[in-house]
Amino acid sequence: MTMNTQGRPTAPGEAAVTATDTFTGNRALQIEEALLFEIGRYDVTGVDLDEPETFTPRLGKLARKTPIDLPGLSEPEAVRHYVRLSQKNYSIDSGLYPLGSCTMKHNPRLNEKMARLPGFADVHPLQPLSTVAGAVDLMAELGRWLLEMTGMTSVALSPKAGAHGELCGMMAIKAAIEAKGEPRNIVLVPESAHGTNPATAALIGFKVVTVPARADGTVDPEAVKALLSPQVAAIMLTNPNTCGLFERDVVEIAAAVHEAGAYFYCDGANFNAIVGKAKVGELGVDAMHINLHKTFSTPHGGGGPGAGPVVFSERLAAFAPLPFVRVTADGPVLVENEVALEGGETPFGRMVAFHGQMGMFVRALSYMLSHGGDGLRQASEDAVLNANYVRVGLRDLMSQPSGDRTCMHEVLFDDHFLDGTGITTLDFAKAMIDEGYHPMTMYFPLVVHGAMLIEPTESESKASLDLFVATLRDLVLKAKAGDTARFLEAPRFAPRRRLDETRAARQPKLKWEKPEPWSEAAE
Ligand SMILES: *Cc1c(COP(=O)(O)O)cnc(C)c1O
Repeated sequence: MTMNTQGRPTAPGEAAVTATDTFTGNRALQIEEALLFEIGRYDVTGVDLDEPETFTPRLGKLARKTPIDLPGLSEPEAVRHYVRLSQKNYSIDSGLYPLGSCTMKHNPRLNEKMARLPGFADVHPLQPLSTVAGAVDLMAELGRWLLEMTGMTSVALSPKAGAHGELCGMMAIKAAIEAKGEPRNIVLVPESAHGTNPATAALIGFKVVTVPARADGTVDPEAVKALLSPQVAAIMLTNPNTCGLFERDVVEIAAAVHEAGAYFYCDGANFNAIVGKAKVGELGVDAMHINLHKTFSTPHGGGGPGAGPVVFSERLAAFAPLPFVRVTADGPVLVENEVALEGGETPFGRMVAFHGQMGMFVRALSYMLSHGGDGLRQASEDAVLNANYVRVGLRDLMSQPSGDRTCMHEVLFDDHFLDGTGITTLDFAKAMIDEGYHPMTMYFPLVVHGAMLIEPTESESKASLDLFVATLRDLVLKAKAGDTARFLEAPRFAPRRRLDETRAARQPKLKWEKPEPWSEAAE
């Protein structure tokens, strides 16, 4: 079997066959769906349009000589196509989605209602400022909440995802170092970090040096100190970390990093575990992104807009990118370009053309206001409680790499409990699909063998957690009892079974090609 660097099989095993055991290829009411190009016809359109009057195109040689070949479908055909595709998506609205670190929590409908208010939904980034005072107020208020919750000094709202926020934070750090004229080009990244951390540092020209993890997955301040030097620009640390543990030595690490003249970037993807409990500013953090789509319940969206605001400490505040909202005695002012800067403001540039994802700002602030400070604190506590409920429900059957200790918002298991069964983490996850569960995060963090990282979030009820725990217990018992086929053949009930991930990555088909000859059915 082909394995990737994480020891994860990337191609289907022998047992996985394509499931086409019905006449139609449909599986119960899950309808098999071809591409629009395959189901549409090219000699019809869904609408009746008059023939256009003859006109002389001004495209010259560039005018198209062949038909455009857009598939024609009637409205019901087009509607069915997209509805069927949408039904193939598993989502937080369809069931428990325990992806560790990704924080798939419920998206409250109140947020949606607020985001659809015409004054927010229809706002355009080029509208005159005098017509968008409410939107600017909302951005100022969101910024105020973020700064209050983190104990930081300034905020950049414009980054459009967590990874984009990391880039923003690291660019501010780079600008600060350049302003001091220091030759610092190394960024320290712990082994347990999300791949976006080293990728971000490398993208803007830093050299990445890995900090080894302790046996329990946390970072040893001594290991950090041993790597600090006048060449080190920053450390990128996740807290709580990706093993679901709070880095207890964070204050000592921050002090050592500052002592060495470097900056502390915190990956705030797991902020949902500590909102209302700890202020990262007081832990010594200099820059941190906040995934509004994780902690503050905005939809993750299949490729839709994300938002990853970044908060900065006093050390970095001046370098925050344009545009930003300046809070003055007369109310908030949107600073859009260099001309509007005041003394002390030295933005490193800008991350995006405009101001960020307004729709996500509205949803996140709606979540904050509807919870209030006490509600946000309780959400953090419930997220941690739920993760520990799952942990305790499974600890006698599954193995915990960090020993039996309380976790934060997510619980990490390794594949030790599957030793001798011939079943891997991947097989186990595929069997969960047959049971109607989206698998947990697998094979991440890399520091743990066959990792299974489960984050139930605060939005799951006790009943839903009980069923989840019971399902996993049943699967573990089946695995230990030698019911191997159930795992190796899984998923048995999904419309697609195991796909060849290696081939998909190495030979991606990104464009539909007309089959040759044209009359032949597509593959
Ligand atoms: C999700 C996540 C990121 C990246 O955030 P995106 O919004 O997906 O770009 C970075 N680090 C950690 C630990 C994460 O969980």
